[in-house]
Amino acid sequence: MKLNIKDRFNKQLPADKDRNNTRRQVKEACFSFVHPLVPSNPSLLHVSEEMLQEIGLSKEDANTKDFLEIFSGSRVMENSDPYAMCYGGHQFGHWAGQLGDGRAINLAEVEHNNKTWALQLKGAGPTPYSRSADGFAVLRSSIREHLCSEAMFHLGVPTTRSLSLMLSGDQVLRDMMYDGNAAYEKGAIVCRVAPSFIRFGNFEILSARKDHANLKLLADYSIKNHFPEIRPEGKSSYIQFFKSVAQRSLKMVIHWQRVGFVHGVMNTDNLSILGLTIDYGPYGWLEPYDPDWTPNTTDRTNKRYRFGQQPSVVLWNLYQLANALYPLVEKIAPFEEILNEYKEEFSNQFVQMMHDKLGLEKKEKQGIQLIESLLENLSLAETDYIIFFRRLANIKKTDDAKNALSLVKEAFYNVNENLNKNENEGEWTSWFEGYLERLKLEDRTDELRKEAMNKVNPKYVLRNYMSQLAIDAADQGDYSIIEELHNLLKAPYAEQVDMEKWFVKRPEWARTKVGCSMLSCSS
Ligand code: AMP
Ligand code: MG
Repeated sequence: MKLNIKDRFNKQLPADKDRNNTRRQVKEACFSFVHPLVPSNPSLLHVSEEMLQEIGLSKEDANTKDFLEIFSGSRVMENSDPYAMCYGGHQFGHWAGQLGDGRAINLAEVEHNNKTWALQLKGAGPTPYSRSADGFAVLRSSIREHLCSEAMFHLGVPTTRSLSLMLSGDQVLRDMMYDGNAAYEKGAIVCRVAPSFIRFGNFEILSARKDHANLKLLADYSIKNHFPEIRPEGKSSYIQFFKSVAQRSLKMVIHWQRVGFVHGVMNTDNLSILGLTIDYGPYGWLEPYDPDWTPNTTDRTNKRYRFGQQPSVVLWNLYQLANALYPLVEKIAPFEEILNEYKEEFSNQFVQMMHDKLGLEKKEKQGIQLIESLLENLSLAETDYIIFFRRLANIKKTDDAKNALSLVKEAFYNVNENLNKNENEGEWTSWFEGYLERLKLEDRTDELRKEAMNKVNPKYVLRNYMSQLAIDAADQGDYSIIEELHNLLKAPYAEQVDMEKWFVKRPEWARTKVGCSMLSCSS
């Protein structure tokens, strides 16, 4: 097995001088060197063939002892110097000081086909940033991260990727619901892959410590290695950098709203400067459309990170990044301009995205009214977000409202509740009348509109209960559902008629089950 190691982060940025793996505040450095802890009996559960290829490995490589050793953290590769990054962050709206890679260890950066990938083990043991936690990860959360990052990529959502999923062979103690019922669970290690894992929080920690020299080094490093389109021209390059981060983050969150993904913990330490979805923790997928839904039990009271609020939270986080970068620019106006642009652009892009979901090419005033009233109707009674839009594509311009409504009926969790209540049926009929009216203005044929809609409205997403089925089976040593879902979600927009058992509403048993409707940060 041969990887083309081309380390940059740990070569070009200042390292913590202390090489001991003790928990501490790390000042005047961007990272600390640290080795993964050797697991007692690692085994490979699943590997992404695509990611193998991306980093220059073959299918056969994945079956070697080398692969097992390196991606379980048992052995450090020659010519590599693993490290954990130093970052801080605002958690749930409050500055939390130093956080850092408490259970992530970057093995190396590798170059293949002109792309550079950072390989990072999650759950490979403690680091100087582990604070009071253990540095490990459990099987359930590792399956969720491994499957979801690959699923998101195939949905067209910018994301970190996942190469491999291993069992460590060690037991990890977790109090899953923080209710005093701690239990041992199987430990696991995922190898995450991304061009970079730099977060908003990497800048925030340096800025908070008034370490402006290293703040500048990190900004220059990021621009040089990850934003090659920006010319390194002093202060203006930092403004452009911020603008690009804002644009990428906006693009990412619009995709989340399109596919119904709820991140769950959008703290500034969990936002990537590359606009990649990062840190799959207590995330969830909208099943009944509900802008107030959050899967994260830790956020149950304030629902700061609920579905409908995600775009505003990205903006809030961008304000924190702007504050962090301010010392490099020393002017407020350019940041404010970009933040204001975000607000305007959000409206434009959201409206465009909803037009695409509805199959509307033309921009008529009615379009916005239709979107607003649709979102109200979707909230009338439980209506499945994915099934609704997928079914909507089957409507023909010649249908009448009643017909059209019957085509999406399958999306209603309780048809009686949704349609037998007269006012709901009335709301829906009048919405479909408006939609059909509006479709008549469209030039595309029904067939072409359907084709276009099915490219933005996925048929298959990683519904919360689907992960749970994979987790429950894996806990018993059956990894076949992981494989099945991994394959299914490689083509989320395709019909895959033999896979329709996954194109169904959340089953009733999953409504209140832990892991399906609610998740804690304990992972
Ligand atoms: P999160 O909100 O899950 O992304 O994590 C917030 C911070 O806690 C980060 O600095 C993580 O590295 C750290 N962290 C989370 N879980 C663990 C763990 N089991 N061991 C060590 N650090 C952890
Ligand atoms: Mg995190």
